Amino acid sequence: MLFNCAKCPGYCCSYPIIPLNKKDVWRLAKHFGIGFREAKKKYTKPQEDEKYSMRRKADEHFGKVCQFFDTDERRCTIYTARPSTCRTFPGGRCGYYDFLTFERNTQDDPEHIATTWSD
Ligand code: SF4
Ligand code: SF4
Repeated sequence: MLFNCAKCPGYCCSYPIIPLNKKDVWRLAKHFGIGFREAKKKYTKPQEDEKYSMRRKADEHFGKVCQFFDTDERRCTIYTARPSTCRTFPGGRCGYYDFLTFERNTQDDPEHIATTWSD
């Protein structure tokens, strides 16, 4: 594996738009034991073409993150119910993790959190 999410502050969870499709909303609804409409209202923001994105909340490092991100533990709180985009991201390699590793090595600080990287 070329990246390690357990050692990362969760940069990808701070993306402005974390898209969800209907199946993703259904998965959330089932996870929380509520109906589709309630889940849609509680957890998503409407986007174009009847698509949705995650609601977000404040984060001290990245400004805003997904509402389901634990900002103390720096991890997802709904891992088994996370949307499809989170299941497939980032593929083979994570650009942010490469950058983070470089910065941590350069600064000799394994806890450093890089906040200015963009892809
Ligand atoms: S930014 Fe990369 S390393 Fe960090 S949590 Fe996301 S996928 Fe994992
Ligand atoms: S659902 Fe979980 S993995 Fe996906 S953006 Fe939110 S906190 Fe991150």
